[in-house]
Amino acid sequence: MCIFCKIVNGEIPNNTVHESEHFLAFNDLYPKAPIHILIIPKIHVDCFQDVSAETMAGLTQFTQEVARKVGIDETGYRLITNNGNDGGQEVFHLHFHLLGGGKLKWDHS
Ligand code: C5P
Repeated sequence: MCIFCKIVNGEIPNNTVHESEHFLAFNDLYPKAPIHILIIPKIHVDCFQDVSAETMAGLTQFTQEVARKVGIDETGYRLITNNGNDGGQEVFHLHFHLLGGGKLKWDHS
């Protein structure tokens, strides 16, 4: 079982920010911005390339709720998913990085 599935199952502790029947948002262990939240579907999907439009529709609404909950919906934020090896993906359970809490720099190397 992958590490994020273990988090969903409660086998590994996490710092939950928001939760619904199908999605979970928790603080990244190694934050790269003042706010750095990971947003995942509870079902296992390897990566963005494999996700269904239906799951993405729910994930979009859930992500907007998370941004409102932590108060960055109006100030702004960045939403990133790393897809596959060249994209820098390390955990192969689909996740979006929600970054904010200050003016972000852009490094696309
Ligand atoms: O997009 P990528 O796969 O590289 O991101 C994985 C992210 O998961 C990293 O930002 C890492 O800090 C985070 N992580 C975590 N808790 C874990 C394992 C990884 O927050 N137990």
